[in-house]
Amino acid sequence: MPEKQPILFTFHKIREQGEQGNADAWRAFLNFYGPLYLHLLNVYLPGDGEAGSRLVEGLLAELAANNYERFRGTSRQSERTFLTEVRALLLDLAAGSSAAGAPGEVDGQRVLDLDKLAKIVEGLPLAHQEILFLKMTGYTDATVERMLRIAPRVAEKAFERLPAACSGGQQLEQDRCPWSAEWLGVLREARAAKKENCPEPHQLLRIQDGQVSWYDKEPAEKHVAGCLHCLENWAALREVSYWRRAAEPISAAQVERFMRALPVAAAAPTKPFLKRVFGGS
Ligand SMILES: [Zn+2]
Repeated sequence: MPEKQPILFTFHKIREQGEQGNADAWRAFLNFYGPLYLHLLNVYLPGDGEAGSRLVEGLLAELAANNYERFRGTSRQSERTFLTEVRALLLDLAAGSSAAGAPGEVDGQRVLDLDKLAKIVEGLPLAHQEILFLKMTGYTDATVERMLRIAPRVAEKAFERLPAACSGGQQLEQDRCPWSAEWLGVLREARAAKKENCPEPHQLLRIQDGQVSWYDKEPAEKHVAGCLHCLENWAALREVSYWRRAAEPISAAQVERFMRALPVAAAAPTKPFLKRVFGGS
């Protein structure tokens, strides 16, 4: 009997071979990242898991359409910038889905739009802005603390700015977005509002990882604190960094279900693993 194969896939292999429609690369993608995306949908679009699974199928179909055109356009530079790009596509799909519904209005005005969101975070230090952002997503204080490694109460004063529609800074019991239609809608608008002087996402990641000197960090952080597009990306990097490690694994049956959404050979692999991956005969 052959020994159980060690996990040979890395992000770079998944990125490289996924665009060729390699079934093993996609199985690795689903095993590595499926938990993250299903978990995010559970938070952003709480409800039955089936709606989330169908959105993941939609995501895979989008990534694979036209010979993996969307997937080819994703970052090769780092796993986490790649993961935020795929997250953006997934949340765009979620925002447009019937499960999210249409954003609500009060007296003919949207409950939340980019101007209102800008006012909520205006003038606050970046560290406080990201706490507010994650709280508006619907994360509990305990989750925010694990994600950022600082207690959210440092920004307690700013909690007064949180709109009532997102539970107004009250303690949540679990990570659940209380205003999916509004939040998914406004995040999609923030993602679309990229400006010419926005720093590259990879630069934001390097700042979060502490790899940038104070001299370069200061202007970039100042930009993020005044730009909703970058703040969305900044918070997204925090999210994918955390849930990539913390989300519960998904079952082999779920992985196989998602595989059927992709134009790869559906049959279980028969050739020995290394030969299939590296093309030996
Ligand atoms: Zn920006």
